[in-house]
Amino acid sequence: MRQEELMRRALELAQRAEQEGEVPIGALVVLNDEVVGEGWNRPIAAADPTAHAEIQAMRAAAKKTDRVSLAAAERPGGAARRARGGARRFPVP
Ligand SMILES: [Zn+2]
Repeated sequence: MRQEELMRRALELAQRAEQEGEVPIGALVVLNDEVVGEGWNRPIAAADPTAHAEIQAMRAAAKKTDRVSLAAAERPGGAARRARGGARRFPVP
């Protein structure tokens, strides 16, 4: 999957957070070019200060892939940070 498509999806998730009154952040976990986890900020809705987009995405990915280690995260670029959305890669050893 191309980086632009991943960013577009992360931004859609950020938009979803915004529509729900949350800080607009979306996150994806990609494994072998496949999205295995998605998340958007929802600390308010979940009444949980840890319900950040990236945590939600990692929980979904762990559930889907049955993995407990998501090592070596790639940080999103400057544009991603400015847009408050991110596509991160977690190559799994
Ligand atoms: Zn966060």
